[in-house]
Amino acid sequence: MILILLGAPGSGKGTVSRLISEVRNIPCISTGEMLRKTEDSPQEAIDLLKKGELLPDSIINQMLLNRIQKDDCQNGFILDGYPRNLEQAKCLDEMLSSINRSVTKALNLEGPTEVIYRRILSRKECVSCRATFSADTPEKVENVCDKCGAELKIRSDDNKESLDRRLEVFNKNTAPIAEYYKEKGVLKSIDSSKGPDTALEQALAE
Ligand code: ADP
Repeated sequence: MILILLGAPGSGKGTVSRLISEVRNIPCISTGEMLRKTEDSPQEAIDLLKKGELLPDSIINQMLLNRIQKDDCQNGFILDGYPRNLEQAKCLDEMLSSINRSVTKALNLEGPTEVIYRRILSRKECVSCRATFSADTPEKVENVCDKCGAELKIRSDDNKESLDRRLEVFNKNTAPIAEYYKEKGVLKSIDSSKGPDTALEQALAE
């Protein structure tokens, strides 16, 4: 099973992909998380990330190719944050067809923009397990992760300026990918405004 999570920043891709990963026992691969974790990322990459700009396709495609060749991806995987433009979508298809595989479903998380702003501008992320909390789903003890007890931090790109840009980039580059997967007959729309459990239910329904 190869699943792709499509949707604007703050639509819940990370949360839903982690839930699917637990239920289906396949890894979820977040390109954003991989980039944030790489401590030796060049300064240019860090700057692009902070501003909400996309990193060059050549770097991202290679990073993803290396990751999906690992053993834990044999039975499938979930992609969160990749592909983010048509070039990446086509590159993924080429990578997959070379190993006789293809995208099972592209799940398109849709929801109102005001929900996105509210979630992202109040979002805190666990430095250890990457769980996220925000105004509608706050942590029980301030700045402490409910799941693992580690510290919560605000991501360097979760501010109004960067979010405006990420939404602009999303509408221009990423939203058109939904049409690409629709034509292939694998697109499924998910209502992300009703919370993660409802989104998970819709994602896993046949
Ligand atoms: P969000 O969906 O909340 O914007 P992500 O964690 O998916 O956050 O991505 C954060 C940033 O990482 C993006 O704004 C971009 O700079 C970079 N990035 C992640 N995935 C890609 C990708 N597939 N192609 C180019 N840049 C990417």
